[in-house]
Amino acid sequence: LFISFEGGDGVGKTTQIERLSTLLVAARIAYRRTREPGGTELGGQIRDLLLHGGQVSPRAEALLYAADRAHHVATVVRPALARGEVVLTDRYLDSSIAYQGAARALGAQEVRDLSLWATEGLLPDLTILLDADTAVSGRRAGARGRRDRLEREPDAFHTALREQFRVLARQEPERIKVVDADRPVGEVAAEVSGLVESLIVA
Ligand code: C5P
Ligand code: MG
Repeated sequence: LFISFEGGDGVGKTTQIERLSTLLVAARIAYRRTREPGGTELGGQIRDLLLHGGQVSPRAEALLYAADRAHHVATVVRPALARGEVVLTDRYLDSSIAYQGAARALGAQEVRDLSLWATEGLLPDLTILLDADTAVSGRRAGARGRRDRLEREPDAFHTALREQFRVLARQEPERIKVVDADRPVGEVAAEVSGLVESLIVA
């Protein structure tokens, strides 16, 4: 079972993955928690380049995310799935479609195709889209003291991002479940665990 958590910066993806991990431990379900970019050693270097390197042109940026994902899927995600583990990833291809495809205007379909090439077509069984008001998530991310270049993006960037995530959820309603993340952490966690449970029981 392959589950991705998606959404803009500061919507609570990491917190919700931690909550879900605790539940899986209690239920004695083997899982692997990981993230993009940076879920592998090579990915960590790519992450540094992306977030703390100099200027990266949009296509180079898209290719670096794709390279990170290709290596992550080949060396972490597929092996864990083959062992029968539940894989929880903090971001996956929908982030690329929203950030590089829409917010950086490279085109959603092209970025999706690139990602499917990189992963040999691996899509999550379930994608939890944490959807929150951009002003709220912007404040959360700000409160954490963002240290990368995304903090300098204008509001329009974050608005385009959120809108694209919602479009993706409308296009693939079976896979992508929208969860209102403008609520207390516990309420969001309860909805997330309900969605995951329905898949594990099924
Ligand atoms: O989720 P996390 O904080 O690890 O993301 C790292 C940074 O990379 C964030 O600033 C996020 O906005 C950015 N990012 C991006 N394009 C992606 C994935 C993440 O610009 N495809
Ligand atoms: Mg996070």
